[in-house]
Amino acid sequence: MPAIGVFALQGDVREHLETLSRLGVHAFAVRRPSELERCDGLVLPGGESTTMAKLARTFDLLEPLRERVKGGMPTFGTCAGMIMLADRIVDGVAGQETIGGLDATVRRNAFGRQVDSFEADLSMEGVDGIVHAVFIRAPWVEQVGPDVEVLAEASGHPVAVRQGHLMATSFHPEVDDDGRIHRLFLDLVQG
Ligand code: GLN
Repeated sequence: MPAIGVFALQGDVREHLETLSRLGVHAFAVRRPSELERCDGLVLPGGESTTMAKLARTFDLLEPLRERVKGGMPTFGTCAGMIMLADRIVDGVAGQETIGGLDATVRRNAFGRQVDSFEADLSMEGVDGIVHAVFIRAPWVEQVGPDVEVLAEASGHPVAVRQGHLMATSFHPEVDDDGRIHRLFLDLVQG
């Protein structure tokens, strides 16, 4: 049974733990480097990326995270987690750090204030049927490098991407009972 950690210094950790547990994996919260070491894969939840980055730095987790991601640990970022995985961000706060690894430029709060939260039905590569996607002050992917596959788009912008062992969605697949997108991530873990 794979051991999947959920970064738990900030964000909607419980929803991811519940979804992963329902899919039959060993899911646990990661707050310190010793917990990160036990992960076969990691989820970076939605929340607030600036706070996540600061807390990861404060709790000595940022460099270990960078090393594990660079070392090939399957990692799935949702919303703020997508921002954390991006090599480049637009509209971050000054000096905002990320873990990086995903060769993409991600725009924070991209859908704008008027519609900062909305839901949309999407089709997504690798997932059968329609995906009901929940966006909350969501980023979109503005530019991708050659190794990044776009799995889904909304309003003409990529909102789900995969690059080797990394996967990211702008939306929150953990907020409803739909385990299909986490299962797609588990396929990366179990390769
Ligand atoms: N806007 C948030 C950020 O910049 C992300 C929102 C979310 O994760 N729901 O981190």
